[in-house]
Amino acid sequence: MKHNFGAGPGILPHEVLKQAAAAVLDFGGIGLSILEISHRSPEFESVLDEAVKLVKELFSVPEGYSVLFLQGGASTQFALAPYNLLPEGGKAAYLETGVWANKALKEAKLFGEVEIVASSKDKNFNYIPKDYKVPADAAYFHITSNNTIYGTQLQEFPKSSVPVVCDMSSDIFSRKVNVADFGLIYAGAQKNMGPAGVTLVIVKDSLLGKTGRKIPAMFNYQTQIEGGSMYNTPPVFAIYVSMLTLNWLKSKGGVDAIEKENIAKARVLYEEIDRNPLFKPVCEVEDRSHMNVCFVMENPEHEKAFLRLCDDKGIIGIKGHRSVGGFRASIYNALPITSVYVLIDAMQEFAEKNKA
Ligand SMILES: *Cc1c(COP(=O)(O)O)cnc(C)c1O
Repeated sequence: MKHNFGAGPGILPHEVLKQAAAAVLDFGGIGLSILEISHRSPEFESVLDEAVKLVKELFSVPEGYSVLFLQGGASTQFALAPYNLLPEGGKAAYLETGVWANKALKEAKLFGEVEIVASSKDKNFNYIPKDYKVPADAAYFHITSNNTIYGTQLQEFPKSSVPVVCDMSSDIFSRKVNVADFGLIYAGAQKNMGPAGVTLVIVKDSLLGKTGRKIPAMFNYQTQIEGGSMYNTPPVFAIYVSMLTLNWLKSKGGVDAIEKENIAKARVLYEEIDRNPLFKPVCEVEDRSHMNVCFVMENPEHEKAFLRLCDDKGIIGIKGHRSVGGFRASIYNALPITSVYVLIDAMQEFAEKNKA
């Protein structure tokens, strides 16, 4: 039995994998694979409709927003957000909380002026800056809700008169979100929502069509809305598996229920990191992520041996990102708390063996 703490593509629910595997051979008893049917077939159209419906339901998406399933990952959205929302000669505000935020703002610079309202670069992004002002003349304010690499998370979202654009790639559907507080939400599916290959976009319709620039069809949210995410061939299988995962989440009680579980998982793990003399946390307590738990060892020479112990116990994917080092346990929606306890047991066993 493996315990998958990988940061992304991340763990998917076992039931979902079983359903997906069956659909590869025979999709819903039609005698064809999900991989070989037309995206215009009624069978796939109902998959896409269902996926959109589940997003709207799980997030209580209000009227006036469109839900899109696009390709190119969150990294493409780094460019499409300014392409579609930043007028010629306009300005956008960015909160720099890590490498992903930095990549996003670099793309925005191709389209207009970028103001970095605050950055936590001074401490290798181990906290979320809180003292800043968003310029009232900015077209939007871009934030990253969860910083996958550093293990920090915005515990509260800014309420701003400037439309908020949010990269939610690594905590989408892990917690309650009031969509009305955002102008644009985007997320690569592969951390917490489905497999790699599809990107969720939730956009407020009234923000579109104001840039004064020509936008190629595939990069234009309006074309994608008009085409119902099918301007071209959509990533059929990735959308199907995302739909199954969203359905799984709904059956578990939706975002409210999973948020409680995620908080419980994070709490027991951080408690162990704080308590265990061999390990130490890396982020400011108040900004700790409930999705990616980063920690290091008091004695870095122990790290290899601890990784080996984890490997023996089927604990997978906890090596930290190279820019932070140490360990990162990603505890996404589909990871059961029992896996977290296996990791905690390993930490305790290691501490016992290596007592000073
Ligand atoms: C993984 C990740 C990305 C990059 O996603 P791609 O889909 O690979 O482009 C962007 N932002 C955040 C917060 C991420 O965790």
